Amino acid sequence: MPELPEVETFARSIAGGVGGEALVSSTSSGLRYVKESVCEVEDIAPGTVIEGYRRHGKALFLKLSSGRWLYIHFGMSGRPLVFDGDEPPYTRLRLDFEGRSLSVQDPRRLGGVGVLDSPEDYLLPRRRGPDALSVGREELLSRLKGGRAVKAALMDQSLIAGVGNLYADEVLFQAAVLPRRRVDSLHEEERAAVHEWIGRALRASLDAGTDLSRLPEGMMLRVRSKDGTCPRCLIPWSVGTVGGRTSYFCEGCQR
Ligand SMILES: [Zn+2]
Repeated sequence: MPELPEVETFARSIAGGVGGEALVSSTSSGLRYVKESVCEVEDIAPGTVIEGYRRHGKALFLKLSSGRWLYIHFGMSGRPLVFDGDEPPYTRLRLDFEGRSLSVQDPRRLGGVGVLDSPEDYLLPRRRGPDALSVGREELLSRLKGGRAVKAALMDQSLIAGVGNLYADEVLFQAAVLPRRRVDSLHEEERAAVHEWIGRALRASLDAGTDLSRLPEGMMLRVRSKDGTCPRCLIPWSVGTVGGRTSYFCEGCQR
């Protein structure tokens, strides 16, 4: 599932691939519209230009020259592709420009779309927390409280937006905190390490182009698999369900 680094990378590829180009036509099929959408994708006027983007957590808003915003959620399996020629398989959203086109491929069709007057029209009713890449330490730590499992808290998009299952495991591995630990049991140093590693883990993935095999040595997501081992102590990963999601952790290194 695309998390923050993947969506940021998608946004950059869309802006680099079709940004500034004049739209010829647009169609969507099979993606669910958010209820705040003011019109359909097909209603975006020819000649409209994508002028930039705003990303908040895993939600992407393309800034249109009309003043409106095209919202895209990539769901479990969505990804954009700039193409020239035959339409790629599983295209659910297609924007045609002079000479090239943008497809959003989504085999499982769990993504979403909408044309919005403002990103806030989508974000505010859903009470999204601050974006995980830019959340300040004090802001995060003031929100990180209560008795639930720390991993569940990190994945709660109303606490911070953009961290999902994979990056939560990495953050907690690096902070040496077990995913099932209660938030209110964390020491000050552990809380500080959690904040630090949210930024470091997300930026490391962005720097690696979200190719997890290119992450620096010592990171969990390079080797997060059933037959993988902890890069520090070399014992096999423990696997369990925390917050309803499959979680990897090291019983030797995390407390
Ligand atoms: Zn270990």
